[in-house]
Amino acid sequence: MSESHHGKCPLGCGGGVCVVQTIPVRTIEELWAPRLQGVLQLAPPPFQSIGLVKCAECSFTWCAPPWEGTPELYRALSTSVREYYEEDRFDFRVARRWIMASDTVLEIGAGAGHFARSVTCKTYTGLETNPAAVATAEVAGQLVLDQTVAQYLAATGDPLDVVCLFQVLEHVHDPVRFLRPLVDRLGVNGRLIVAVPADDSYIGHLANCPGNLPPHHLSRWSDKSLCRLGEVLKLTLIESVHEGVTEVPSQVQATKIRDCAMVTLMDALDAVLHREPKPVRRSWGDQILLKIARAGAAPLAKCLQARPMGIWGHTVAAVFRR
Ligand SMILES: [Zn+2]
Repeated sequence: MSESHHGKCPLGCGGGVCVVQTIPVRTIEELWAPRLQGVLQLAPPPFQSIGLVKCAECSFTWCAPPWEGTPELYRALSTSVREYYEEDRFDFRVARRWIMASDTVLEIGAGAGHFARSVTCKTYTGLETNPAAVATAEVAGQLVLDQTVAQYLAATGDPLDVVCLFQVLEHVHDPVRFLRPLVDRLGVNGRLIVAVPADDSYIGHLANCPGNLPPHHLSRWSDKSLCRLGEVLKLTLIESVHEGVTEVPSQVQATKIRDCAMVTLMDALDAVLHREPKPVRRSWGDQILLKIARAGAAPLAKCLQARPMGIWGHTVAAVFRR
């Protein structure tokens, strides 16, 4: 990693930052091509490459300059990836433990309203900017509004008991600025529930994964970064819990475990060869190592499947109290 001139940590740390990798925009377009051919070219960014920058203190990682996903990207993703709006998930189950029947709940990025269907509370409102998802929620009778956070907060003055963001924060350019008005609206004992891809799990070491790169994911969250988020928002972290690698629907379990096995083997090869893992690996040497890891992933995945205890999966959920 090299020293960076990309300013300060967005979570307000005072220490140094480093560039993990500088990635050409064209490379990210190539990585998306098999699934979303041409979608990124519809609205190309005004720069040739982006840097993934990491805070030395809290390990929060973000992209600079910011490159946010367009509505076209999310429309394409929601139709091409079957589980993009999953019906029930680990993070929903964690959140339900912290929501009471008397609570007023606001969910940001509510998708098609799947969480609304499974939660018992006094009032539920979801916000979603994908019109197709809003329409699906409406058909199902869920209150999901096609509004931004600013529009919603300007239109209502009532305090909130719970604000939930499931797999949202990693898409946001400036998380503290985004969350602060929501936190200000929390009442006494109000809870902020956040679930993000766990950068401390195998997800953080998956190579050539466009879904974990800008413009889809603008940031990467470790447990340390989530702690820091609580500090900067003056909230108390009351629970932080990792999904187990097998705690997912059976139809996607094999893929997750194979990815986990592959990352484990790549980490081992990197350690032996003194190579530094990078988010994007396209050199000849990397291609050979990835081929070896891919070949070995199947038998290792069988072992992991048989004994998955303690292996962290995709998601970490954090619950904060005001
Ligand atoms: Zn930091």
